[in-house]
Amino acid sequence: MRFLLGEGHDDETLNPLEELTKKFGEILGKATNIQITPLVYEETQKAPSNTSSAEKEAIRPLDKIESFNFKPREIKDYLDRFVIEQHAAKKVLSVAICDHYHHVRRCIENPTQKDQDYSKQNLLILGPTGVGKTYLVRNIAKLIGVPFIKADATKFSETGYVGSDVEDLVRDLVKAANGDVNLAQYGIIFIDEVDKIAGSGDSRDISGRGVQINLLKLMEDTDVNILGPNDMVRQMRSMMNLSRQKQQADTISTRHILFIVSGAFDKLEEIIKQRIGASSIGFNGKSQDPRTDTDVYFQKVKTEDFIRYGFEPEFIGRLPVRVACQSLKKKELKQILSSSEGSILRQYQEDFLGYGIQLEVTDDALDLISTMAEEEKTGARGLLTVLETCLRDFKFDLPSTTVKHFQLTADIVRDPLPALQLMLLQAQKEYPTSSREAITRFCDSFLKAYGLSLELTEKVMSFLQEQSQHSGKTLRSVCELYFKDFHYGLPLVARSTGKHHFVIDLPHLQNPNGALASWIQENIATQQTADSENITTQQIPSQEEPNDGTTTS
Ligand code: ADP
Repeated sequence: MRFLLGEGHDDETLNPLEELTKKFGEILGKATNIQITPLVYEETQKAPSNTSSAEKEAIRPLDKIESFNFKPREIKDYLDRFVIEQHAAKKVLSVAICDHYHHVRRCIENPTQKDQDYSKQNLLILGPTGVGKTYLVRNIAKLIGVPFIKADATKFSETGYVGSDVEDLVRDLVKAANGDVNLAQYGIIFIDEVDKIAGSGDSRDISGRGVQINLLKLMEDTDVNILGPNDMVRQMRSMMNLSRQKQQADTISTRHILFIVSGAFDKLEEIIKQRIGASSIGFNGKSQDPRTDTDVYFQKVKTEDFIRYGFEPEFIGRLPVRVACQSLKKKELKQILSSSEGSILRQYQEDFLGYGIQLEVTDDALDLISTMAEEEKTGARGLLTVLETCLRDFKFDLPSTTVKHFQLTADIVRDPLPALQLMLLQAQKEYPTSSREAITRFCDSFLKAYGLSLELTEKVMSFLQEQSQHSGKTLRSVCELYFKDFHYGLPLVARSTGKHHFVIDLPHLQNPNGALASWIQENIATQQTADSENITTQQIPSQEEPNDGTTTS
């Protein structure tokens, strides 16, 4: 690859170095389609130029943080709308979030505040999978308007060569803030499966400890380069390191980024048990509490338990706020289905509604779905598994029928296929109506696409229906198949003949090319007749016209 400096450049103000950078960027951009983002980040996200100044004010992303005035109870009330149970976690999170963002607001109002000692309240959330740990934090981030990212601790390696570098987390946060570093510096980083980076007590196992050390630096206060070590632009800049321009600020401080880590901590219960002894929490291993033993033990966790688990004291010390989320039982799972605002069931109902089908779920069906989900032992994720298994085929088949209302009962949850077959059989009886609807929809889309209206004869209608029933294909696909030549041909005919309405009969469908040719022929013949009539009219003077030797023009 050879660069000719000065060749063809149209910007006289560029020095050779800048020109090389520009050319290199252009070539890279063309070769790999990479977008090289500018190093300069705006104070806030740019508002579209046509917005009024009032609107510009309204969309400044930092506004919400600068005017943060929530109280812990208000945050919990908001979370209650989406997250079922987990009251202890909601309380602890609400307080920690309020403390953190009130402090952030004070720092923005009075920058000297930054210099005062402040211990950041990074959090650790314990609890089994699928019980709402991420969901809680995601909803909080949405409420307070800060960027949020989630990553698994297992993807990091100590060196960052094999796995990812922990600093990538911060760079991802900047991406989540659309490159707005000012906003990203107040964001939330959620690290899941943190229990997997605990050391095993084996001195050879240094990798997890190394990641912990790297993470703890990040959780404190460190400056991270916005562009990663593998970033081409950064490499070029450091390689050249000659730019005469003032170096742009290209780092982000992690001082105000809130870190929340979580994990299932499978073997932690055993460690807590050994420390306190089963009898001292009052149930000798047999709980009277509706919660599981794990839930009860997790509430008693101490720093020393985490250290025995394999965490470095410095690392666990940077996570001063700890709380456990409880496992979800059938009752809570049913509540998630019926009353959580973001419930997965609502998503299914909306999906069906997209095809004009109303999905109603009976109470006994909700009971059974919750029971089956609990058996999955994956928390609320089990609900998705159960719903997906029982509704998958209905989602596939019902949209192509006339069914407009579908009641999901416990019997259908138990054994979905016979119920679906019955519904499809019933729908078969209404086949003529539903198939006509499908054909009409096809003609409508043809009209929309080409501005040409199709009128199908009764014979064509019956033929298409027969073909669909015979092949088991939908009427839409049968129409697409038999009209494939018309997609190209009819617009051509329309252009040369001016014809916009086509009556399609069976012979046209069976021989589309012949039909297209005949319409053109027909038009030529009509024109010839019209022309000859015109000529005749010009040559033979009308009987009514006075024969005075003048001609009509
Ligand atoms: P985890 O505890 O493993 O982080 P998530 O928070 O990601 O689990 O939960 C997965 C999904 O399950 C969420 O997106 C949400 O739809 C649902 N969910 C989990 N727990 C709850 C809950 N307590 N209330 C309402 N929905 C929940």
